Amino acid sequence: MAKCVRCGKPATIYLEGLRFCEDCFKIHVEREFEEAIEGHAIESRLINANDRIMVAVSGGKDSMVLWYLLHKFNFNIVPVHLNLHYGVFSEKSVEVVKKFSEKISKKVLIYSVIEDFGINMEDVFRKAKNRPRCAVCGVIKRYLINKIALDLKVDSVATGHNLDDGAATTLKAILNWDFNTLSRNYPLTPPYKDKLVKRIKPLYRLADAELKAYADLLGIDYTTEICPYKIGRVTLSKTKDILNEINTQFKGVKRTFYYGYLRNNTLFKKDEVEL
Ligand code: AMP
Repeated sequence: MAKCVRCGKPATIYLEGLRFCEDCFKIHVEREFEEAIEGHAIESRLINANDRIMVAVSGGKDSMVLWYLLHKFNFNIVPVHLNLHYGVFSEKSVEVVKKFSEKISKKVLIYSVIEDFGINMEDVFRKAKNRPRCAVCGVIKRYLINKIALDLKVDSVATGHNLDDGAATTLKAILNWDFNTLSRNYPLTPPYKDKLVKRIKPLYRLADAELKAYADLLGIDYTTEICPYKIGRVTLSKTKDILNEINTQFKGVKRTFYYGYLRNNTLFKKDEVEL
């Protein structure tokens, strides 16, 4: 039987080219999370002492693990969920975040796009019918999450974007020479005047598969419901599949590729943010 790369005991988890026993896998995930907080590969800490962090929880595995880890490491957090009212998809998300909130006795703030902001997403999609729905929804979510963060006067907003998100977004942007995306696909987006709250991605060192395995191992509940507006395979998912295919042929290249981009950020960074 293959041995754990950390302790030499029999390995049961084989992910991203590494073999671990269960205990060492947990240590590995938590170490990567801590290194992200310390800002490895980007030379800038994501979280400073006494920061109040709003954690944006969708109910999916990534943001649920993010919430769990920030809680476990005793950060000062305000969990926030935005109910988009997408039928069963949203109902399941609300259920998952509420349950977790009760389990760890930490209040989650749930905002409704309809009741709190007077936005009916169906109407928005109808008005913006020539634009992909995921893009429209993404813009509204980012706007509202930032607005909530400004109201709550937090120091930063943490989202569950992971290594696969970061690497695939970079690859897709390079394939299209999309310099705008390349200038800002980082784990830390600084605040902008009094308009944009600092944004951080503390899971940028952890792959999709690692986060799923960690959530399952620790019994962290999450929803696997697919958004009813996600029709067909979106390009970013296809890019993720292609990148993972290359990653199996060239072990570890997904990580090398993304960290290389992060280390060479001066190549793409713009001085001025355009709002
Ligand atoms: P997505 O753009 O859906 O892949 O989500 C990226 C990240 O945005 C998630 O990991 C969450 O941190 C956050 N997020 C997405 N949807 C919501 C939501 N409905 N409420 C709160 N945060 C969300």
